[in-house]
Amino acid sequence: MKLTEILNRKELSLSFEVFPPKTQDVFDVVKDATEKIAALKPSFVSVTYGAGGGTSKYTLKIAENIKRTYGVETLAHLTCVSSDKNTVRERIHDMQLSGIENVMALRGDIPEDKINDDRSRWDYSHAVDLIRELKKSGADFCIGGACYPETHPESATSREDILHLKEKVDAGCDFLTTQMFFDNDLLYAFLYKIREAGINVPIIAGIMPITSAKQVERAIKLSGSFMPRRFKSLVDRFGSDPLAMKQAGIAYATDQIIDLYANNVKNVHVYTMNKPDVAEKIMKNLSDILGK
Ligand code: FAD
Repeated sequence: MKLTEILNRKELSLSFEVFPPKTQDVFDVVKDATEKIAALKPSFVSVTYGAGGGTSKYTLKIAENIKRTYGVETLAHLTCVSSDKNTVRERIHDMQLSGIENVMALRGDIPEDKINDDRSRWDYSHAVDLIRELKKSGADFCIGGACYPETHPESATSREDILHLKEKVDAGCDFLTTQMFFDNDLLYAFLYKIREAGINVPIIAGIMPITSAKQVERAIKLSGSFMPRRFKSLVDRFGSDPLAMKQAGIAYATDQIIDLYANNVKNVHVYTMNKPDVAEKIMKNLSDILGK
């Protein structure tokens, strides 16, 4: 099923993200965690793609298994910046063979050793190039892209970032998922700006439940997200107590999701990071709201 069918329904959608193993020896452990998450029957499960493409075959294996075993729709991520045309075309062909219907088309982060390269020589410089490649393949994929309520760190201004976002949508992006954010007002302001810019595809709000003090540092470094005062005090107060931090982090994420639903943002994606217990608690917290 195409994700646009789910995203355009009147009902709320709650989806989860998992990541594939990096090596075969941990495949079963990761597969088990992703199965527990799929068993909760979220609206769909997205499976990330390792930077540089090292985990590509595992992304497909995990996505295929979730769809086949649990009947839960999947979204397979694909990045392009570290790949050449032949490799990307092969990956697209593999996706078709695996029965993947939904692809998250990403550029990927630029590896440290390529930052000073002459980018005009790359086969793919931006996600829009991958979206065009997916369209050219002739496969009838439903295509997603990433967007950044707090502006992508490489963009000088949010206006510039939104112009490039519009290019992705015009190239065939059917929906957009946001980078994590901890202040919902930033998302509401962003939604206003992108609608003004003529971007009308469904937006999925990405929420990251922070469950340990260590994770805060990593998440902020990765996303550059603003930490509101309420969130900072929670980390200050509970950061040194793992159980309390986890409970507080899940409560904070739940609050964010309830506020989003209350404000008509009906599609929410939770970065569950292969943690079935976190996914389960969030789902339980929202059970009456989701009608489950
Ligand atoms: P782009 O859309 O190419 O944008 C990157 C920057 O280039 C932006 O500043 C943009 O404004 C600018 N830009 C875009 N088009 C042009 C143009 N034509 N000319 C000039 N500038 C342009 N990474 C992974 O490795 N694996 C994953 O599975 C993964 N999943 C993700 C899922 C989500 C929801 C998000 C938000 C991010 C994910 N990432 C993943 C991280 C992502 O790859 C990085 O954030 C990366 O830096 C940008 O990817 P993008 O697809 O947004 O790039």
